[in-house]
Amino acid sequence: MSDSQSFTFKAETKQLLNILIHSLYKDREVFLRELLSNASDALNRLRFEMLTNQNVLDPEAELKIHINVDKDERMLTIQDTGIGMTKDEIIENLGTIAQSGARNFIEATRDSEVDIATVIGQFGVGFYSVFMAADWVRVTSRSFKPRAKAVQWYATGEDSFEVSPAEMNERGTKIEIKLKEDAAEFADENTIRNIIKKHSDYIGFPIYIGDSESQANQQTSLWRSARNEITDDQYNDFYRQMTMEFEEPLLRIHAVTDAPLQVYALLYIPAKGERGMFSLRKEDGLKLYSRNILIDEYNKDMLPEYLRFVQGVVDSEDLPLNVSRETVQASGFMPKLKKIVTGQVIRELEKLAKDDTEKYNEFWKEFGLYLKQGIAAEPFETEKIQPLLRFKTNQKPEEWSSLDEYIERMREGQKEIFYIVGDDPKSVLHSPHLDYFQSKGTEVLLLTDPLDSFMLMGLRKYKEYELKNVAQADVEETEASEKESEAEKIAEDDFSTLLKRFKEELGERVTDVRASKRLSQSVARLVDPDDSLNPEMQRVYRYLGKDYEVPKKILELNPSHAILKGLLGKDADLQNEIIEQIFDNALLVEGLHPDPASMATRIQKLMELALS
Ligand code: ADP
Ligand code: MG
Repeated sequence: MSDSQSFTFKAETKQLLNILIHSLYKDREVFLRELLSNASDALNRLRFEMLTNQNVLDPEAELKIHINVDKDERMLTIQDTGIGMTKDEIIENLGTIAQSGARNFIEATRDSEVDIATVIGQFGVGFYSVFMAADWVRVTSRSFKPRAKAVQWYATGEDSFEVSPAEMNERGTKIEIKLKEDAAEFADENTIRNIIKKHSDYIGFPIYIGDSESQANQQTSLWRSARNEITDDQYNDFYRQMTMEFEEPLLRIHAVTDAPLQVYALLYIPAKGERGMFSLRKEDGLKLYSRNILIDEYNKDMLPEYLRFVQGVVDSEDLPLNVSRETVQASGFMPKLKKIVTGQVIRELEKLAKDDTEKYNEFWKEFGLYLKQGIAAEPFETEKIQPLLRFKTNQKPEEWSSLDEYIERMREGQKEIFYIVGDDPKSVLHSPHLDYFQSKGTEVLLLTDPLDSFMLMGLRKYKEYELKNVAQADVEETEASEKESEAEKIAEDDFSTLLKRFKEELGERVTDVRASKRLSQSVARLVDPDDSLNPEMQRVYRYLGKDYEVPKKILELNPSHAILKGLLGKDADLQNEIIEQIFDNALLVEGLHPDPASMATRIQKLMELALS
């Protein structure tokens, strides 16, 4: 044809086609899913267009997909009444646009165990998967724009494609596929029907095959169906077809509300905190529908940041549609919707925590960090998140406890929730700051995740209880500590001498050395002077900036400790070495780093002395 033009594919597309044509993939049936998903996108875009623009070609035409097969000719045809493509669009979309996805796809085919056929759609190059099964492909399209002319695209999967004018009166896109000899099975209505059931059952438009008037897909909006009519398998299939995650979701939430807004929500909490490598969901966000029209594929305004891992669909009758998205934002509708959706998720999580602790703990292990971030970053949400938090404690180091459980177990007269910040759950149990609390049987939360320090910025109080760091010097005495230490105290004069020796030796490295009432097992500990930043803020600064200098601390000594008693009367040299080592040990348990070189030499010297 004289008015036919030839174009060459982009280099990376050529390479991609080359791989697709010359390899055998066991799951190549998924090319149908890709073409149907494109048809569905095109139909959705048209419907969206028609919300504001009635000036489209064939405004009355049914929104649908039609599939025809011809066994003798080995032909498969898929036609939609979607938005269509103009000549420029077809050239760009199907051949000349730079495809970073093609490059990634090629990378992935190099060294991967996954069957590439099943994941090609995730690379944004799904259309080309048709060449796994096609000798040639002809795409004929007529744009929704009333004055656009029909156009035809033809390719065999070699380096170039042809574009020419075409005859087509109805709106939409028709894809004709000449099947390879070894792909003849796809020219069969039953085969096609089964593939649709498997991969495309929830496409939101009717799919018809051949002359049959019954739909090949369910097309139900599962979220609008009655809960008792949906099986677990259907729920899970829907999740799988939406996300392409292979693990079953941890939790599903199917909620329907009538007031204050009419909302259908079908939400899932995935099994894992990270999206699967081949997830279909490329961003966070829920699918937002109104009256069955997909308004937004990744809507981030329906859930707070800290619940961004939730997947699913929200459909509301009340979404004002005949206005732009910006106006929807301004109308105050979204905040209302967000309140409802967020409330549902939180309620279901609380319910899960009550009904199935084990599963909730699984949730906590995968998603706890999101909630902690929420506490740190969204001060107005903390009250909602607090009951969902879980902690290990000195009394139950192997279990996850909620703040409410902690409160229930509180000792009589306890007015605060105690916590300790440290680097890991094991070593923190040996911290001298815990001495006093261990001996009294007081429960203390163990905060050993770097995020905990950030979380504490937003978690100063739970119900009427303040949270208090055990390392802080001003922790209230609840009882006189006289009989606490059964071991005998060092005589006052002797102890003053010791304090003086410590001060001389440590000099500027500490702000003070003093007696502690709080130590029983440990010799010493470091505490912050009253006017310094609290310990978790210090940690936050340490995590954020390497140059942060930790403020000087007070060294507290245990006046009943055998080591200090023994220290009296030793020669000054040995005293100094031991004082240095006590100080270094105290630094270590704070997660601060003493000078390793001088410490090693010193320990060797002390060992020699101990053995001699
Ligand atoms: P993706 O769907 O991820 O964008 P594809 O390779 O599947 O990638 O499709 C490429 C593009 O071709 C689509 O983005 C769309 O613009 C266009 N396209 C494909 N099929 C159709 C169709 N049936 N109707 C309209 N446009 C289509
Ligand atoms: Mg696609």
